[in-house]
Amino acid sequence: MTNPRSYPRSNLEIGTPLVNKRFTFFAFLFSSIVLMSLYAAQVHAYQTNHGFLPPGTSACEAHVPVTLNVPDNALPVPASADYSHGFYHIEEINNGLFYITDGVYQTMILVSHDGIILVDAPPSIGINNADPASSITLVDVIYSIEQTQGKPIKKLIYSHSHIDHIGAASIVRDAFPEVEIIAHKKTNELIKKGSGEVEGILQGIGTNPPPLATEVFAKNKKVKLGNQVLKLSYKGPTHLDGNIFIYAPKQKVLLLIDVVFPGWSPFNNLALATSVHEYLESYDEVLSYNFDTFIGGHVSRLGTPADITEGKLYLQDIKSNALSALKNPANFAIFGVVQNNPLGAFNIYLNEMACDCANKTLNANTTPSGIDWRSRLGSADINTLTHCWTIGEAMRIDADF
Ligand SMILES: [Zn+2]
Repeated sequence: MTNPRSYPRSNLEIGTPLVNKRFTFFAFLFSSIVLMSLYAAQVHAYQTNHGFLPPGTSACEAHVPVTLNVPDNALPVPASADYSHGFYHIEEINNGLFYITDGVYQTMILVSHDGIILVDAPPSIGINNADPASSITLVDVIYSIEQTQGKPIKKLIYSHSHIDHIGAASIVRDAFPEVEIIAHKKTNELIKKGSGEVEGILQGIGTNPPPLATEVFAKNKKVKLGNQVLKLSYKGPTHLDGNIFIYAPKQKVLLLIDVVFPGWSPFNNLALATSVHEYLESYDEVLSYNFDTFIGGHVSRLGTPADITEGKLYLQDIKSNALSALKNPANFAIFGVVQNNPLGAFNIYLNEMACDCANKTLNANTTPSGIDWRSRLGSADINTLTHCWTIGEAMRIDADF
Protein backbone atom coordinates (compact mmCIF):
# COMPACT_ATOMS: atom_id res chain seq x y z
CA MET A 1 0.00 0.00 0.00
CA THR A 2 1.34 3.40 -0.89
CA ASN A 3 1.36 6.42 1.36
CA PRO A 4 -1.23 8.92 0.17
CA ARG A 5 0.98 11.80 1.24
CA SER A 6 3.98 10.62 -0.72
CA TYR A 7 2.72 11.55 -4.18
CA PRO A 8 3.67 13.11 -6.47
CA ARG A 9 7.01 11.43 -5.81
CA SER A 10 10.44 12.26 -7.00
CA ASN A 11 12.23 10.37 -9.73
CA LEU A 12 14.68 9.14 -7.10
CA GLU A 13 12.11 6.67 -5.87
CA ILE A 14 11.45 5.16 -9.25
CA GLY A 15 12.71 1.61 -9.38
CA THR A 16 12.52 1.04 -5.63
CA PRO A 17 12.25 -2.76 -5.15
CA LEU A 18 8.81 -3.90 -4.09
CA VAL A 19 9.53 -7.26 -2.49
CA ASN A 20 5.84 -8.11 -1.99
CA LYS A 21 5.27 -7.87 -5.68
CA ARG A 22 7.70 -10.70 -6.41
CA PHE A 23 5.27 -13.39 -5.32
CA THR A 24 2.33 -11.74 -6.99
CA PHE A 25 4.30 -11.36 -10.19
CA PHE A 26 4.90 -15.09 -10.32
CA ALA A 27 1.22 -15.70 -9.54
CA PHE A 28 0.41 -13.49 -12.49
CA LEU A 29 2.93 -15.28 -14.70
CA PHE A 30 1.59 -18.67 -13.62
CA SER A 31 -2.02 -17.75 -14.33
CA SER A 32 -0.97 -16.39 -17.74
CA ILE A 33 0.77 -19.66 -18.59
CA VAL A 34 -2.32 -21.65 -17.52
CA LEU A 35 -4.57 -19.47 -19.67
CA MET A 36 -2.22 -19.76 -22.66
CA SER A 37 -2.09 -23.54 -22.24
CA LEU A 38 -5.89 -23.74 -22.16
CA TYR A 39 -6.04 -21.65 -25.31
CA ALA A 40 -3.44 -23.82 -27.05
CA ALA A 41 -5.41 -26.92 -26.04
CA GLN A 42 -8.56 -25.36 -27.49
CA VAL A 43 -6.86 -24.72 -30.84
CA HIS A 44 -5.38 -28.20 -30.81
CA ALA A 45 -8.86 -29.62 -30.26
CA TYR A 46 -10.19 -27.69 -33.23
CA GLN A 47 -7.47 -29.14 -35.40
CA THR A 48 -7.89 -32.77 -34.37
CA ASN A 49 -11.66 -33.09 -34.72
CA HIS A 50 -11.16 -34.43 -38.22
CA GLY A 51 -10.42 -37.75 -36.51
CA PHE A 52 -14.19 -38.35 -36.36
CA LEU A 53 -14.55 -37.97 -40.10
CA PRO A 54 -13.25 -40.12 -42.96
CA PRO A 55 -9.63 -39.18 -43.82
CA GLY A 56 -9.35 -36.29 -46.23
CA THR A 57 -12.87 -34.96 -45.64
CA SER A 58 -12.31 -32.52 -42.77
CA ALA A 59 -11.80 -28.78 -43.22
CA CYS A 60 -9.82 -28.82 -39.97
CA GLU A 61 -7.42 -31.41 -41.35
CA ALA A 62 -6.24 -28.89 -43.92
CA HIS A 63 -6.14 -25.96 -41.53
CA VAL A 64 -3.51 -23.35 -42.31
CA PRO A 65 -0.54 -23.88 -39.97
CA VAL A 66 0.15 -21.52 -37.10
CA THR A 67 3.57 -19.82 -37.37
CA LEU A 68 3.26 -17.01 -34.79
CA ASN A 69 5.27 -14.79 -37.14
CA VAL A 70 4.70 -11.08 -36.45
CA PRO A 71 4.29 -8.97 -39.61
CA ASP A 72 5.93 -5.53 -39.88
CA ASN A 73 2.48 -3.91 -39.69
CA ALA A 74 2.12 -5.15 -36.11
CA LEU A 75 5.40 -3.72 -34.81
CA PRO A 76 5.31 -0.80 -32.34
CA VAL A 77 4.37 2.64 -33.66
CA PRO A 78 6.07 5.02 -33.27
CA ALA A 79 9.26 3.13 -33.95
CA SER A 80 10.95 5.49 -31.50
CA ALA A 81 9.20 3.73 -28.59
CA ASP A 82 11.89 3.52 -25.97
CA TYR A 83 11.68 0.78 -23.35
CA SER A 84 14.70 2.15 -21.55
CA HIS A 85 13.12 1.36 -18.19
CA GLY A 86 12.91 -2.22 -19.41
CA PHE A 87 9.23 -2.61 -18.80
CA TYR A 88 7.19 0.42 -19.80
CA HIS A 89 7.08 3.35 -22.15
CA ILE A 90 5.39 6.74 -21.76
CA GLU A 91 5.12 9.18 -24.61
CA GLU A 92 3.24 12.42 -25.17
CA ILE A 93 0.93 12.17 -28.17
CA ASN A 94 0.16 15.90 -28.07
CA ASN A 95 -1.12 18.70 -25.79
CA GLY A 96 -0.53 16.93 -22.48
CA LEU A 97 -2.04 13.58 -23.48
CA PHE A 98 0.37 10.72 -22.78
CA TYR A 99 -0.06 7.07 -23.58
CA ILE A 100 1.51 4.41 -21.40
CA THR A 101 2.30 0.86 -22.51
CA ASP A 102 4.17 -2.18 -21.27
CA GLY A 103 3.97 -3.75 -24.73
CA VAL A 104 0.86 -5.77 -23.86
CA TYR A 105 -1.43 -3.26 -22.12
CA GLN A 106 -2.03 0.41 -22.88
CA THR A 107 -3.64 3.33 -21.16
CA MET A 108 -3.44 7.12 -21.13
CA ILE A 109 -3.20 10.15 -18.88
CA LEU A 110 -4.22 13.73 -19.53
CA VAL A 111 -2.06 16.29 -17.72
CA SER A 112 -3.79 19.62 -17.02
CA HIS A 113 -2.78 22.77 -15.17
CA ASP A 114 -4.91 21.54 -12.28
CA GLY A 115 -3.93 17.87 -11.99
CA ILE A 116 -4.11 14.61 -13.87
CA ILE A 117 -6.91 12.53 -15.40
CA LEU A 118 -6.01 8.84 -15.56
CA VAL A 119 -7.90 6.36 -17.74
CA ASP A 120 -7.90 2.79 -16.36
CA ALA A 121 -5.29 1.21 -14.11
CA PRO A 122 -3.81 -1.91 -15.73
CA PRO A 123 -2.04 -3.92 -13.01
CA SER A 124 0.63 -5.20 -15.38
CA ILE A 125 2.13 -1.78 -16.10
CA GLY A 126 5.22 -1.37 -13.94
CA ILE A 127 6.01 -5.08 -13.70
CA ASN A 128 9.54 -5.67 -14.90
CA ASN A 129 9.57 -9.16 -16.39
CA ALA A 130 13.35 -9.17 -16.70
CA ASP A 131 13.86 -8.21 -13.07
CA PRO A 132 10.67 -8.70 -10.99
CA ALA A 133 12.26 -7.29 -7.84
CA SER A 134 12.54 -3.87 -9.48
CA SER A 135 8.87 -3.76 -10.40
CA ILE A 136 7.06 -0.56 -9.51
CA THR A 137 3.42 0.50 -9.24
CA LEU A 138 1.38 2.22 -11.92
CA VAL A 139 1.51 5.39 -9.81
CA ASP A 140 5.31 5.24 -9.84
CA VAL A 141 5.20 4.87 -13.60
CA ILE A 142 3.00 7.93 -14.01
CA TYR A 143 5.33 10.04 -11.89
CA SER A 144 8.44 8.88 -13.72
CA ILE A 145 8.04 11.73 -16.19
CA GLU A 146 8.77 15.40 -15.57
CA GLN A 147 5.40 16.71 -16.78
CA THR A 148 3.45 14.99 -13.97
CA GLN A 149 5.62 16.18 -11.09
CA GLY A 150 3.70 18.15 -8.44
CA LYS A 151 0.31 17.34 -9.99
CA PRO A 152 -2.09 14.97 -8.20
CA ILE A 153 -4.30 12.42 -9.94
CA LYS A 154 -7.72 14.01 -9.47
CA LYS A 155 -9.88 11.89 -11.76
CA LEU A 156 -9.79 8.20 -12.66
CA ILE A 157 -12.02 6.92 -15.47
CA TYR A 158 -12.84 3.22 -15.92
CA SER A 159 -13.20 2.21 -19.57
CA HIS A 160 -14.96 -0.99 -18.47
CA SER A 161 -15.01 -3.44 -15.59
CA HIS A 162 -12.44 -6.04 -16.66
CA ILE A 163 -9.86 -6.46 -13.93
CA ASP A 164 -6.92 -6.75 -16.30
CA HIS A 165 -7.54 -3.07 -17.16
CA ILE A 166 -8.53 -1.61 -13.76
CA GLY A 167 -6.98 -4.04 -11.26
CA ALA A 168 -4.51 -1.43 -9.97
CA ALA A 169 -7.23 1.16 -9.27
CA SER A 170 -6.99 0.63 -5.52
CA ILE A 171 -3.32 1.65 -5.65
CA VAL A 172 -4.36 4.92 -7.27
CA ARG A 173 -7.16 5.49 -4.75
CA ASP A 174 -4.84 4.69 -1.82
CA ALA A 175 -2.33 7.22 -3.12
CA PHE A 176 -5.03 9.82 -3.78
CA PRO A 177 -8.01 9.17 -1.46
CA GLU A 178 -9.88 12.16 -2.87
CA VAL A 179 -9.69 10.91 -6.45
CA GLU A 180 -13.01 11.07 -8.29
CA ILE A 181 -13.70 7.74 -10.03
CA ILE A 182 -15.99 7.91 -13.05
CA ALA A 183 -17.58 4.95 -14.87
CA HIS A 184 -20.65 3.89 -16.78
CA LYS A 185 -23.40 2.75 -14.41
CA LYS A 186 -23.23 -0.81 -15.81
CA THR A 187 -19.53 -0.96 -15.02
CA ASN A 188 -20.30 -0.12 -11.40
CA GLU A 189 -23.03 -2.80 -11.31
CA LEU A 190 -20.57 -5.42 -12.55
CA ILE A 191 -17.91 -4.40 -10.02
CA LYS A 192 -20.53 -4.61 -7.23
CA LYS A 193 -21.26 -8.23 -8.18
CA GLY A 194 -17.63 -9.25 -7.70
CA SER A 195 -17.12 -11.86 -4.98
CA GLY A 196 -13.45 -11.12 -4.44
CA GLU A 197 -12.66 -14.82 -4.90
CA VAL A 198 -10.42 -14.15 -7.89
CA GLU A 199 -8.23 -11.69 -6.04
CA GLY A 200 -4.59 -12.50 -6.67
CA ILE A 201 -5.34 -14.42 -9.87
CA LEU A 202 -6.66 -12.06 -12.50
CA GLN A 203 -5.51 -9.00 -10.65
CA GLY A 204 -2.01 -10.28 -11.07
CA ILE A 205 0.04 -8.19 -8.73
CA GLY A 206 -2.02 -8.64 -5.61
CA THR A 207 -4.02 -5.47 -5.69
CA ASN A 208 -7.35 -5.12 -3.96
CA PRO A 209 -10.63 -5.26 -5.91
CA PRO A 210 -11.24 -2.03 -7.84
CA PRO A 211 -13.07 0.59 -5.78
CA LEU A 212 -16.57 1.48 -6.94
CA ALA A 213 -16.93 4.60 -9.04
CA THR A 214 -17.90 7.72 -7.14
CA GLU A 215 -19.81 9.06 -10.15
CA VAL A 216 -21.69 7.10 -12.81
CA PHE A 217 -23.41 8.09 -16.03
CA ALA A 218 -25.75 6.47 -18.56
CA LYS A 219 -25.14 7.95 -22.00
CA ASN A 220 -22.70 10.86 -22.32
CA LYS A 221 -20.47 12.74 -19.92
CA LYS A 222 -17.96 15.55 -20.32
CA VAL A 223 -15.01 15.36 -17.92
CA LYS A 224 -13.16 18.62 -17.42
CA LEU A 225 -10.05 19.33 -15.39
CA GLY A 226 -8.15 22.61 -15.71
CA ASN A 227 -7.47 23.15 -19.39
CA GLN A 228 -8.25 19.56 -20.44
CA VAL A 229 -11.48 17.87 -21.58
CA LEU A 230 -12.52 14.27 -22.26
CA LYS A 231 -15.86 13.24 -23.74
CA LEU A 232 -17.21 9.89 -22.57
CA SER A 233 -19.90 8.08 -24.50
CA TYR A 234 -21.72 4.77 -24.13
CA LYS A 235 -22.97 3.23 -27.37
CA GLY A 236 -23.94 -0.24 -26.18
CA PRO A 237 -21.98 -3.41 -25.40
CA THR A 238 -19.17 -3.01 -27.94
CA HIS A 239 -17.11 -5.44 -25.81
CA LEU A 240 -19.26 -5.91 -22.73
CA ASP A 241 -21.88 -3.87 -20.87
CA GLY A 242 -20.50 -0.52 -19.78
CA ASN A 243 -17.53 -0.30 -22.18
CA ILE A 244 -17.21 3.38 -23.18
CA PHE A 245 -15.66 5.52 -25.89
CA ILE A 246 -13.26 8.11 -24.45
CA TYR A 247 -12.44 11.01 -26.76
CA ALA A 248 -9.98 13.87 -26.36
CA PRO A 249 -11.19 16.49 -28.87
CA LYS A 250 -8.22 18.88 -28.58
CA GLN A 251 -5.72 16.07 -29.10
CA LYS A 252 -7.88 14.13 -31.61
CA VAL A 253 -7.24 10.92 -29.69
CA LEU A 254 -9.89 8.22 -29.30
CA LEU A 255 -9.65 5.41 -26.75
CA LEU A 256 -11.84 2.29 -26.92
CA ILE A 257 -10.54 -0.75 -25.10
CA ASP A 258 -10.65 -4.38 -26.24
CA VAL A 259 -12.35 -3.83 -29.59
CA VAL A 260 -9.83 -2.91 -32.29
CA PHE A 261 -6.24 -4.12 -32.03
CA PRO A 262 -4.36 -1.96 -34.58
CA GLY A 263 -2.06 -4.07 -36.73
CA TRP A 264 -3.33 -7.26 -35.08
CA SER A 265 -6.14 -9.73 -35.35
CA PRO A 266 -8.25 -9.15 -32.20
CA PHE A 267 -7.74 -11.31 -29.12
CA ASN A 268 -9.54 -14.62 -29.54
CA ASN A 269 -13.29 -14.89 -30.11
CA LEU A 270 -13.59 -11.19 -31.04
CA ALA A 271 -11.84 -10.28 -27.81
CA LEU A 272 -14.61 -12.08 -25.87
CA ALA A 273 -17.31 -9.71 -27.10
CA THR A 274 -20.63 -10.32 -25.36
CA SER A 275 -22.60 -9.14 -28.41
CA VAL A 276 -21.13 -10.06 -31.79
CA HIS A 277 -23.43 -7.71 -33.65
CA GLU A 278 -22.63 -4.73 -31.41
CA TYR A 279 -18.93 -5.53 -31.60
CA LEU A 280 -18.92 -5.50 -35.40
CA GLU A 281 -21.01 -2.29 -35.50
CA SER A 282 -18.54 -0.51 -33.26
CA TYR A 283 -15.92 -0.24 -36.02
CA ASP A 284 -18.20 2.22 -37.83
CA GLU A 285 -18.82 4.06 -34.56
CA VAL A 286 -15.05 4.44 -34.12
CA LEU A 287 -14.72 5.75 -37.67
CA SER A 288 -17.46 8.35 -37.04
CA TYR A 289 -15.07 10.21 -34.70
CA ASN A 290 -12.66 12.90 -35.90
CA PHE A 291 -9.44 11.36 -34.59
CA ASP A 292 -5.81 10.99 -35.65
CA THR A 293 -4.69 8.51 -32.98
CA PHE A 294 -6.45 5.47 -31.57
CA ILE A 295 -5.65 3.73 -28.29
CA GLY A 296 -7.03 0.18 -28.20
CA GLY A 297 -5.72 -0.96 -24.81
CA HIS A 298 -3.40 -3.72 -25.99
CA VAL A 299 0.01 -4.20 -27.58
CA SER A 300 2.40 -1.27 -27.81
CA ARG A 301 1.18 -0.01 -31.14
CA LEU A 302 -1.02 3.04 -31.49
CA GLY A 303 -3.65 3.12 -34.23
CA THR A 304 -4.86 5.38 -37.03
CA PRO A 305 -8.19 5.56 -38.87
CA ALA A 306 -6.58 3.39 -41.60
CA ASP A 307 -6.03 0.62 -39.04
CA ILE A 308 -9.71 0.64 -38.12
CA THR A 309 -10.70 0.45 -41.79
CA GLU A 310 -8.31 -2.45 -42.32
CA GLY A 311 -9.63 -4.28 -39.26
CA LYS A 312 -13.18 -3.81 -40.53
CA LEU A 313 -12.22 -5.29 -43.91
CA TYR A 314 -10.70 -8.32 -42.18
CA LEU A 315 -13.93 -8.90 -40.25
CA GLN A 316 -15.99 -8.47 -43.42
CA ASP A 317 -13.88 -11.22 -44.99
CA ILE A 318 -14.58 -13.46 -41.99
CA LYS A 319 -18.32 -12.74 -42.16
CA SER A 320 -18.41 -13.63 -45.83
CA ASN A 321 -16.35 -16.78 -45.37
CA ALA A 322 -18.35 -17.85 -42.30
CA LEU A 323 -21.58 -17.56 -44.26
CA SER A 324 -20.09 -19.66 -47.04
CA ALA A 325 -18.86 -22.25 -44.51
CA LEU A 326 -22.28 -22.38 -42.81
CA LYS A 327 -23.82 -23.29 -46.15
CA ASN A 328 -21.13 -25.77 -47.20
CA PRO A 329 -22.72 -29.27 -47.18
CA ALA A 330 -19.31 -30.87 -46.58
CA ASN A 331 -19.26 -29.42 -43.07
CA PHE A 332 -22.38 -31.42 -42.16
CA ALA A 333 -20.56 -34.74 -42.73
CA ILE A 334 -20.28 -35.42 -39.00
CA PHE A 335 -24.05 -35.90 -38.70
CA GLY A 336 -23.76 -38.90 -41.00
CA VAL A 337 -21.03 -40.41 -38.82
CA VAL A 338 -22.32 -39.68 -35.29
CA GLN A 339 -26.09 -40.06 -35.02
CA ASN A 340 -26.83 -40.52 -31.33
CA ASN A 341 -24.88 -37.64 -29.85
CA PRO A 342 -26.39 -34.40 -31.14
CA LEU A 343 -24.49 -32.04 -28.86
CA GLY A 344 -21.13 -33.67 -29.52
CA ALA A 345 -21.75 -33.81 -33.26
CA PHE A 346 -22.89 -30.19 -33.31
CA ASN A 347 -19.69 -29.11 -31.61
CA ILE A 348 -17.71 -30.87 -34.32
CA TYR A 349 -19.90 -29.34 -37.03
CA LEU A 350 -19.19 -25.82 -35.71
CA ASN A 351 -15.48 -26.56 -35.52
CA GLU A 352 -15.58 -27.78 -39.13
CA MET A 353 -17.41 -24.60 -40.13
CA ALA A 354 -14.78 -22.49 -38.34
CA CYS A 355 -11.89 -24.34 -39.98
CA ASP A 356 -13.48 -23.97 -43.40
CA CYS A 357 -13.96 -20.22 -42.79
CA ALA A 358 -10.43 -19.75 -41.45
CA ASN A 359 -8.88 -21.63 -44.36
CA LYS A 360 -10.70 -19.35 -46.82
CA THR A 361 -9.85 -16.19 -44.85
CA LEU A 362 -6.14 -16.95 -44.56
CA ASN A 363 -5.74 -17.63 -48.26
CA ALA A 364 -5.49 -14.49 -50.42
CA ASN A 365 -6.89 -16.46 -53.36
CA THR A 366 -10.10 -17.43 -51.56
CA THR A 367 -10.93 -14.46 -49.33
CA PRO A 368 -13.03 -11.63 -50.83
CA SER A 369 -10.53 -8.80 -50.18
CA GLY A 370 -7.66 -10.73 -51.78
CA ILE A 371 -5.45 -9.71 -48.84
CA ASP A 372 -2.93 -12.09 -47.27
CA TRP A 373 -3.99 -11.42 -43.68
CA ARG A 374 -1.14 -13.45 -42.20
CA SER A 375 1.31 -10.93 -43.61
CA ARG A 376 -0.77 -7.93 -42.47
CA LEU A 377 -2.19 -8.67 -38.99
CA GLY A 378 -0.29 -10.10 -36.04
CA SER A 379 -1.79 -13.37 -34.70
CA ALA A 380 -4.18 -13.71 -37.68
CA ASP A 381 -2.74 -17.18 -38.25
CA ILE A 382 -3.98 -18.37 -34.84
CA ASN A 383 -6.89 -16.06 -33.94
CA THR A 384 -8.85 -16.11 -37.21
CA LEU A 385 -10.13 -19.58 -36.37
CA THR A 386 -11.74 -18.36 -33.16
CA HIS A 387 -13.32 -15.32 -34.86
CA CYS A 388 -14.77 -17.62 -37.53
CA TRP A 389 -16.32 -19.79 -34.84
CA THR A 390 -17.81 -16.83 -32.97
CA ILE A 391 -19.10 -14.95 -36.02
CA GLY A 392 -20.39 -18.10 -37.71
CA GLU A 393 -22.34 -19.18 -34.66
CA ALA A 394 -23.73 -15.64 -34.17
CA MET A 395 -24.87 -15.58 -37.80
CA ARG A 396 -26.61 -18.89 -37.27
CA ILE A 397 -28.56 -18.03 -34.09
CA ASP A 398 -28.41 -14.36 -33.04
CA ALA A 399 -31.66 -12.58 -33.79
CA ASP A 400 -29.94 -9.19 -33.96
CA PHE A 401 -27.39 -10.27 -36.57
ZN1 LIG B 1 -12.07 -6.20 -21.47
